[in-house]
Amino acid sequence: MESSDRASNDMGRTQIDKEHEEPSRGAEQSATISAVTTGDSAAEPPVAVRGTLSTAEEASDQDLPTQAGATDSLPEVDLSAVSEQALGKLCEQIGAKLGSVSERDCSAQNLAMTNGWSVQGRPIAFKLFSARGTDAGSLGRVLLIGGIHGDEYSSVSICFRWMEFLERDKTNAFEWLVVPLANPDGLLRKKSQRQNARGVDLNRNFPSRDWDRLALAQWRKRYAQNPRRYPGAHAASEPEVVWLQQQIENFQPDVVIAIHAPYDLLDYDGPPTAPKKVGALSLRQLGVFPGSLGGYAGLDLAIPVVTIELPHAGIMPSQSDIRSMWLDLVEWVHKQVTGFPAVALTPER
Ligand SMILES: [Zn+2]
Repeated sequence: MESSDRASNDMGRTQIDKEHEEPSRGAEQSATISAVTTGDSAAEPPVAVRGTLSTAEEASDQDLPTQAGATDSLPEVDLSAVSEQALGKLCEQIGAKLGSVSERDCSAQNLAMTNGWSVQGRPIAFKLFSARGTDAGSLGRVLLIGGIHGDEYSSVSICFRWMEFLERDKTNAFEWLVVPLANPDGLLRKKSQRQNARGVDLNRNFPSRDWDRLALAQWRKRYAQNPRRYPGAHAASEPEVVWLQQQIENFQPDVVIAIHAPYDLLDYDGPPTAPKKVGALSLRQLGVFPGSLGGYAGLDLAIPVVTIELPHAGIMPSQSDIRSMWLDLVEWVHKQVTGFPAVALTPER
């Protein structure tokens, strides 16, 4: 990989949140895995080990015996091999796109997938970390999401750094479900874009209670139909959002942390109490948008949603900022979930 090429994607200031940027609706079709992109909305807990697909296995169990001559439709595929291959390809593409995450960094995480496929058939990969720090087991569950907006590169890269912290953290007291790249098509197209492959802003597509009443109306009035904010034809119309919604239902997080850029602040939706600061970011509540994750999970489901807005979309925070944000987040999560401050945070973390 020529690091200069990759750096131009991850480090370039020119990439920062360009409001005037025209999205390409109905972007290029990828036939790759679309054959297995199912509309299957069966609830699926995020428990798959890399390469094992419980729904896929169930589905193949139900396949009719192969009959000679009955091969005019899809050939039989080993779905666990398909997901394995798709995860490998995903890491290859992430490594080629981001200056701060190499293909090797990505593969080293051994990301898993269940039934989450993007519009263009890329996996919505995740990693589960279990609690290790307490004898009493997990104190709670945290869902951490990066890359809902595909042109916010740093939000993906920082997830990989924080996963490395989690990996090494022997005192972690929580279960973490980390989804570093919720909108793979948005990031991994040639010219990264905020929306998914169908031109939908995923952070306006969550089925909040006010979606039907407000989402399209506000988009027309408040955003003058800015394509970058298009909420979709109806609530939860996009597979990436449906999958995240399923994870929230199944995983039942006590806290959701969503990472964005480049507004350099901390936002918060949901029941009290918000963190006052995370690293150098200070709390500045922006209000709730119909169809946003904060509106859906924070207000409707009463799950605290912390939104981290990193200062730059294309430039990573310093190592010390990455670390201090993480320590503040973990400490806040601890207090939020248990009601008590964390006893001791190991400095090696
Ligand atoms: Zn964003």
